[in-house]
Amino acid sequence: MDFSKLAELLFPNVTKTPADMEAEYPARTLPEGAKVTRFAPSPTGFVHFGGLFPTTVAERLAHQSGGVLYLRIEDTDARREVAGAAEGLIKTLSRYGIDFDEGAVLDSEGKVSDKGIYGPYKQSLRGPVYHVYAKQLVREGKAYPCFTEAEELEELLAVNKKEEIKNTDWLAQAESRRAQMLKDRAITLEEVEKNLEAGNPFVLRILADGDPERKIKFTDLVKGGMEIPENDEDFVLLKSDGIPTYHFAHAVDDHLMGTTHVIRGEEWLPSLAKHLQLFRYLGFKTPKYLHIAQIMRLDENGNKKKLSKRDMGANMDDYTEMGYCPEAVCEYVMTLLNSNYEEWRMQNPDKSYKDFPFNVKKMSVSGCLFDFNKLGDVSKNVISRMDAKKVTESVTEWALEFDRPFGELLAANKETAEKIFAIGRGGKKPRKDLATWRDAKPYMGFFFDEYFEVECDYPEKFPREDIKAVFDGFLETFDEGDDMNAWFDKIKAVAEANGYTTDMKAYKADPEAFKGNVADVSMFLRLAVTGKVNSPDMYSVMQILGKDKVAERIEKMRATL
Ligand code: GLU
Repeated sequence: MDFSKLAELLFPNVTKTPADMEAEYPARTLPEGAKVTRFAPSPTGFVHFGGLFPTTVAERLAHQSGGVLYLRIEDTDARREVAGAAEGLIKTLSRYGIDFDEGAVLDSEGKVSDKGIYGPYKQSLRGPVYHVYAKQLVREGKAYPCFTEAEELEELLAVNKKEEIKNTDWLAQAESRRAQMLKDRAITLEEVEKNLEAGNPFVLRILADGDPERKIKFTDLVKGGMEIPENDEDFVLLKSDGIPTYHFAHAVDDHLMGTTHVIRGEEWLPSLAKHLQLFRYLGFKTPKYLHIAQIMRLDENGNKKKLSKRDMGANMDDYTEMGYCPEAVCEYVMTLLNSNYEEWRMQNPDKSYKDFPFNVKKMSVSGCLFDFNKLGDVSKNVISRMDAKKVTESVTEWALEFDRPFGELLAANKETAEKIFAIGRGGKKPRKDLATWRDAKPYMGFFFDEYFEVECDYPEKFPREDIKAVFDGFLETFDEGDDMNAWFDKIKAVAEANGYTTDMKAYKADPEAFKGNVADVSMFLRLAVTGKVNSPDMYSVMQILGKDKVAERIEKMRATL
């Protein structure tokens, strides 16, 4: 077979050569060791928690090494494309600390456009580039056209694959597919010409030289050394409309765009033999690969399951509505990604997670477990380290979107809100009340009459007369100007005066000897002033509410007793 002639027949309009492409896409000039990584999503929907994982790794490896992170939109399957998905994912990722140096970016009108000299970064715009390499492969006898009802055959293969397991006849089918493949491979120039003249569509297939009995040795940077069977399937490179498959497109792109590390989900491992074959056929240096295990979750019965698209916590946009701050989510992702992260955080409480020396070797080989409780704990720590201003702004911003009346109230009482959020903040042991911005209202809404509500009654065992007497005693001496000690001394005095001891040791030794203790007295006041039995530091609460409001609430409670 005259392959050059075949190449001309199939691609008469392709005049450029791979050498021209190399000239158009010069090698990057980056410092030694700088990594070039990419996120290469198909714009088919939202960003999945499992997608944030490889992307965070890609971001860290690139930026930690002074390299480049770029975004490539893999839109070769138009049927699965969702309008606006690319824009959405750029915005979502940016919220989670992932900003691309290059590739598909949003322009000033919020539309996807290109930044960088290795574009276009949208695969659907790169048809001519792929065709140069397709022609080259044909010219070298490494790919051939297949006119056998192109698309139908593909679909048939896909269906067969799914049914293989239950179909007892699958061996026979595989054999007949193989026979068909060998027949297709043997196509002659005359047959090609005839088909082209008749306008018959074709797909371009690779001529696979592998033997699954033989193994390729391969090192994944996360999974370590592995052996995978060679590929013997003549998979499709170009579909009948000339659009490449993912396999072909990504190999050409990763080469021309200078990717040094491909970081992706482990669902791509079964395709790896094909990819290595392609890189070899095309004469490209293979990038380094990191295949990242799927995120797992525990189901109702405590069994590990893959975190699927429909699971709670899968869609990154849900976190915004749930009120998680991106910093907390990033922090959580880091704890899952590197086993020594939490230890580092304890030693470096004030640093950005981007200062952590991320290390591929510290990644878990098997799947990480997604756990909302753990996320909540991490988040509480993250928020406890923020200053009151940031918390106030974030809660307000969140509430304006998801709880408008509360948001407007906070916006109108910015200074008070900041004072409230400052309670117990700073210092060695900051309060950890908030895991999400959604927790803010239940935590501090009581400061505002709009949300003040008495959550429970006083326990029966306390005579109402005692409670009233405590109220009266307290209000008689309460002075806003008192410092905390003076304020508490007065409460203690009121307690003692009413038979509630301040001597906790004595109380513990013989509780029957007293009506109660000073903690009970504090609780009387706390429930009246905050509506709750648990609240932030009551001295601070009273300072913020002011004498009149404190008195008003106590009087109101008194009237109900
Ligand atoms: N487009 C592929 C995907 O959406 C990219 C895989 C890769 O990173 O190579 O999963």
